[in-house]
Amino acid sequence: MARILVTGGAGFLGSHFCEHLLARGDEVVALDNFATSDGSNIEALRDNSRFTFVEADVVEELPVRGPLDVVAHLASPASPPEYLKLPLETLRVGSTGTERCLELCRRAGARFLLASTSEVYGDPQVHPQAEAYWGNVNPIGVRSVYDEAKRYAEALTMAYSRIGLVDVGIVRIFNTYGPRLRPGDGRVVSNFLVQALTGEPLTIYGTGLQTRSFCFVDDLVRGLCAMADVRGVTGPVNLGNPIEVTIEDLAGRVQRVTGSTSGVVRLPGPTDDPARRRPDITMARRLLEWEPLVDLDDGLRRSAEWFAGQLGRSGLVPMREKP
Ligand code: NAD
Ligand code: UDP
Repeated sequence: MARILVTGGAGFLGSHFCEHLLARGDEVVALDNFATSDGSNIEALRDNSRFTFVEADVVEELPVRGPLDVVAHLASPASPPEYLKLPLETLRVGSTGTERCLELCRRAGARFLLASTSEVYGDPQVHPQAEAYWGNVNPIGVRSVYDEAKRYAEALTMAYSRIGLVDVGIVRIFNTYGPRLRPGDGRVVSNFLVQALTGEPLTIYGTGLQTRSFCFVDDLVRGLCAMADVRGVTGPVNLGNPIEVTIEDLAGRVQRVTGSTSGVVRLPGPTDDPARRRPDITMARRLLEWEPLVDLDDGLRRSAEWFAGQLGRSGLVPMREKP
């Protein structure tokens, strides 16, 4: 049994990660300031005697006492519309927030797990993306508040590792979806599912020919656990599903899974929207013996069920009136 601090523990990935750690017998401290979440994701965990929640901003002092085996730094706005609304907070949580976590690890002798992102590859000119690729990021573009914060976080983490201060592991997470994505967070899977389930047309930005590779949350969390557990493996290691789809294809799948007949509407594409993204997961397979198992349609079906429940309905029959 380990004692693990999860920053961003009330968020989408953080809450699933906490739940998984508790289920295997670990003790979990979740820390969050609810910048892009509320308490709902962790409500069911609060009764567990091995779970503690601390409401705090990771950029400020970390009010966490007692021994720690691992600090997993997941705190950060992650959805593009959200980090674009919180530019300075996003830069700070990646920079100062990461440093605070690393310092805590140094004092506690804990392993540090950094939740980095496929966004460090920017709009990639190498495809698929392996960890050795340095990326193509616009350092002054709108998305840079997120991309560069994560790149700095990786640089800082590697510096602590090289000096020998902290045992670290970096994972670069590719697009992940599933139950507990916030219906209003603006990411493509949450938008499409809410639109399909409420009888709205699905909003395709740009040509719809841009690609992403979507990983179901349960798969991703297994990868996070594996990386938390293996002291000495620094990475970075890509975690994501290598099955690549266009956004148009994703819209079709969401329509089929939900039975939606509301069609699509075309809107202008966001600035600096990466054209293609697909992880090379050779490293994860080799070092973590990890690969995703959940098929995209299956994962979308499971997500749709959860979203339907959120919208106050039991089935997947599309609703005509708004929730
Ligand atoms: P999320 O927005 O659901 O969760 C992030 C959590 O961090 C939220 O609960 C938020 O309130 C919290 N937070 C933000 N700033 C904070 C601060 N200063 N102090 C304390 N808590 C703070 O996002 P998510 O999808 O769960 O992402 C979790 C992590 O994984 C992020 O670091 C993100 O960059 C990374 N990631 C996610 C994806 C994905 O597809 N979900 C892809 C790549 C990387
Ligand atoms: N997207 C879309 N419609 C939406 C939301 C997003 O077409 O309602 C597109 C977006 O332009 C991008 C892709 O879907 O090309 C993934 O967007 P998301 O914000 O989920 O994640 P990103 O990978 O861009 O961080």
